[in-house]
Amino acid sequence: MEKCNLCRIKSELCNSHAIPDSVFRSLFKKGNGQAIKLSSNERSPNCKSQDSWATEQLCNRCETKLNINYDQYGLNLLRGKVGEIEKGSEGVYFLNIDTLKFRSFVLSVFWRGAVSEHENYKTIEVSSGFLELIRSSLVRSAKVSKNSCTVFVQRLVDTTEGGFSESNLRELVVSPFPRTYEVRGHLYSSITMIFLGFCFEIFPSPIHSSEKISQFALGSCKSSYTFPYLEITEIPEVLDLMVSSLRKVNQGLSNV
Ligand SMILES: [Zn+2]
Repeated sequence: MEKCNLCRIKSELCNSHAIPDSVFRSLFKKGNGQAIKLSSNERSPNCKSQDSWATEQLCNRCETKLNINYDQYGLNLLRGKVGEIEKGSEGVYFLNIDTLKFRSFVLSVFWRGAVSEHENYKTIEVSSGFLELIRSSLVRSAKVSKNSCTVFVQRLVDTTEGGFSESNLRELVVSPFPRTYEVRGHLYSSITMIFLGFCFEIFPSPIHSSEKISQFALGSCKSSYTFPYLEITEIPEVLDLMVSSLRKVNQGLSNV
C-alpha cells in the first residue's frame, strides 16, 4: 500500500485523474473510443490514444471528496449549467456563480496534475510550498485562499475561416505548458492548462502590480467572472503543436 497524496494515509490508491475523466470520456465517445494524440516531441508520431492521463495517487475517500467538492461544480460551470451566461463582444460573462469555488476546482485539477506521475503532467514544475498550500485547503474541503496565487481563465474561440467550431475546441486537451513573463523587471512564471474549450493560466506567485491585471483575476469578484475570448491561433504553444503535427503528416509520421 502506498501513501495517498492528499491525506497522506497509507491505503489502496485509485487510478486518479487530474483533468477530469469525463472530459476524456466525452472525447473518446466522439472518436469511437479514441482521441488523436499530437505530441510536441518531434519524433513521436500523431496517433490514436485511449490514455486519460491517470495514475495511482489518491485513496478512495480523497478521490470521492475532490469529485464532490470541486469537480462537480467546476465541470457544471464549464458546461454552462451553473449561473447565468451572457455572451458579449469581449468575452463570456458568468453571473451568480461562486468564483472562489470555481477557482478552487481549477487549482485542484492543477494540484492533481502537479503530483501526478503521468508523463503529460511532467511539465508542471512548481515549488513544494505552493503545492502544500493547495493540498492543505483541499484536504480540509476548503476554498484555496484568494491571495495564494493568480488564476486567469479564457474562453477559446477560432474565428479563422474553416477553423475549429465551439464543439471542436471543447474536445481539445493540451498537456500543460510553462511560460515566463517579464513585467517591469519582475519575472512571473505560469502554467497553462487547456480543456473543455477553456484556457486556464495559473501564476504561483500572485500578481499584485497592476490593477488592470488583477481585475481579470478569477475571484476578484465573488459572484461573477468574464471569460475573455482567446483565439486558439494566438496561443503560440498550441500553434507550434499544430504546425509540427502537420509536418509529421507530410513526413508520414502519422497513424491517424
Ligand atoms: Zn486520501
